[in-house]
Amino acid sequence: MTASLSLRDRLAHQVRDIPRSGIRDFFDIVSTMKDVISLGIGEPDFDTPWHVRESTVFSLERGATHYTSNLGYLELRQAISKYVAQNFGVTYRPDDEVLVTVGVSEALDLALRALINPGDEVLYHEPCYVSYRATIVFAHGVPLAVATKADNGFRLTRAMLEAKVTPRTKVLMLNFPNNPTGAIMSRADLEDIAAFARERDLIVITDEIYAELTYDTPHTSIVSLPGLRERTIFLHGFSKAWAMTGFRLGYACGPAELIEAMMKIHQYTMLCASSMGQKAAIEALARPEVDVAEMVGEYRRRRNFIASALTDMGLECHRPLGAFYAFPSVAKFGLPAKEFALRLLQEEKVAAVPGTAFGDCGEGFLRCAYATSLENIKEAMRRLERFIGRL
Ligand code: PMP
Repeated sequence: MTASLSLRDRLAHQVRDIPRSGIRDFFDIVSTMKDVISLGIGEPDFDTPWHVRESTVFSLERGATHYTSNLGYLELRQAISKYVAQNFGVTYRPDDEVLVTVGVSEALDLALRALINPGDEVLYHEPCYVSYRATIVFAHGVPLAVATKADNGFRLTRAMLEAKVTPRTKVLMLNFPNNPTGAIMSRADLEDIAAFARERDLIVITDEIYAELTYDTPHTSIVSLPGLRERTIFLHGFSKAWAMTGFRLGYACGPAELIEAMMKIHQYTMLCASSMGQKAAIEALARPEVDVAEMVGEYRRRRNFIASALTDMGLECHRPLGAFYAFPSVAKFGLPAKEFALRLLQEEKVAAVPGTAFGDCGEGFLRCAYATSLENIKEAMRRLERFIGRL
């Protein structure tokens, strides 16, 4: 008789070997505590705009509770196509170049699974959204992380990519405005990256979920640069700018062959995004300027405050230009970022995420989300200053 394997040993290795998200562990601790001010969660504190909620309820009352087309309601794909053309300068056919997904999360997974053969390499930049590395590994890809640095505002350069790329590299993943650093890329920065992608014949997956949230300069999408549309999967969604995280609605736009491949996986594994979320998204795109502008104005006020407060208390912090995160350095205190964050939580009841949750090169940094009220941010900064005064 052979000894039976433990359940753990029977797990798929790529799943067994990947650690849980560092953010989850941290928030398990936060959830056991009272009166914590959280700068931790990457989620808008605003409610979804009222007209979106009201119209969604009405659509449910009228019976929009069935499966939709696998690609998503045609009316929504038309609205997405129009919005993307107006705001990102690229036109996609609603019939076969737009796929509605369960958040950008599903779209990322579909894009990688549609493209990767086991062993293909995916270049991406760290610090980055916690799911990138895991999603690449689950798709049997090989993650190639490029470390971005505070001294150039966490921007990505062609030289950094050239140092990592190999003949086995197939995909380049980008996320600007960036979670967790708040970095954005100028058009000139992106032109260098676009030339690199063309010359190396890479497919680009660009996650632009924070595109509307820039505070000093408007967003430029890499997909709008010459020769990029035909090699790029553009991802966007409603979670951030419309404060619709719980609706789980996102989308992918790209050349028909790539969207068709993603659609096959989506069709067999997900069927369609929820009809309720799709109805909400149709309404959200009815008047985006109004809803989004109000929230962006408030984020800008908070960004201005938190950036000055952090530098005034002596922390080095590059100016956050997009998304809703500040990423100050706490390296000078000599504590690992995780210990710094844990002590800040225990001693001052302020939750901020250690930079290491976003990749090893996040060591020495703290992610402070300003997706909470200005009053909360002011109090959190008072407590942080008191904390570092004791170190
Ligand atoms: N990409 C980035 C960069 C994110 O920060 C997030 C959410 N924090 C996502 C994707 C996932 O978004 P969604 O809610 O659309 O799945």
